[in-house]
Amino acid sequence: AKKAGRNTHIVHQADMASDNHDRLDIEQALRHAIARDELELFYQPIIALRGDRLIGAEALLRWRHPEYGLLGPDRFMDVAEQSGLIVEIGEWVLGQACREAVRWQTEGLEGLGVSVNLSAVQLRRNNLETVVADALASTGLGAAMLELELTESMLLEKSDQFLQLLRSLKQMGVKLAIDDFGTGYSNLSYLQRFQVDRLKIDKSFVSQIGSNEQNRAIVTAVIQMAHSLKLEVTAEGIEHQLVQRILTSLGCDHAQGYLFSRPVEADRFLEFAKAHSSI
Ligand code: C2E
Ligand code: CA
Ligand code: CA
Ligand code: CA
Repeated sequence: AKKAGRNTHIVHQADMASDNHDRLDIEQALRHAIARDELELFYQPIIALRGDRLIGAEALLRWRHPEYGLLGPDRFMDVAEQSGLIVEIGEWVLGQACREAVRWQTEGLEGLGVSVNLSAVQLRRNNLETVVADALASTGLGAAMLELELTESMLLEKSDQFLQLLRSLKQMGVKLAIDDFGTGYSNLSYLQRFQVDRLKIDKSFVSQIGSNEQNRAIVTAVIQMAHSLKLEVTAEGIEHQLVQRILTSLGCDHAQGYLFSRPVEADRFLEFAKAHSSI
């Protein structure tokens, strides 16, 4: 039996992965989290800046831990990835996100897409194509309504197998986005080669474009470059109206951030979407 005091300490530690005992505790609990129905997806609205229109949501994983309450990915993602549990969890995330997007349609909200984050660990498995195809088939979601978010570092994987995977996903009709764009290694030719549809500019650049000239220059350049490659751009982490105005003036396509909404529970997102579509 574990002592509550120690566990509280574990969960509040900034970097749980640093301690082997803590890691094992979390790993064991996480192992049962799916079966016990403790994992949950929150949804954060994505807005088209032109017309101020809701176009979909990003699914973001939460763990409703029976003792510690609601945990964000920063509390368990390292353990999930290093233990390999992210493969099973990621499969659940894909299915759940697709199911929810179908529910939006059933509720009369047409054309809302869902974005799902992928882990590098999932990409290294050979079966991601099947996992995605199964999620679409079992829920009936149209492939074009699903967007998969990869990070720049994943594109460094140059194996034929990886290229084939991305090609298959594109052939299915699934959309691909590069997450946290600007924070990693970026190579323009890769973006074309991988047939990416969208760049998501990291919030570290976006949040300060009102005050930081350098960040504004970077964001301006990324938007121009993306558009010249026929890619759409989503800006993340918008918290202030000034930032929204600047992004709109720069021609940024989509926006996501606390200004519009934090990530919220599925039912609350549905309310948000209904309220937004009736305006
Ligand atoms: P991310 O993909 O870059 O997701 C955006 C993060 O920024 C989310 O944090 C979101 O809550 C936060 N955010 C959104 N708007 C704002 C804003 O205006 N201001 C600020 N300060 N933050 C904002 P969250 O939900 O804690 O997720 C953290 C990371 O965990 C995600 O970063 C993603 O890399 C990972 N993650 C989340 N869900 C999944 C999942 O299902 N699978 C995988 N593999 N990774 C996931
Ligand atoms: Ca993301
Ligand atoms: Ca991001
Ligand atoms: Ca991130």
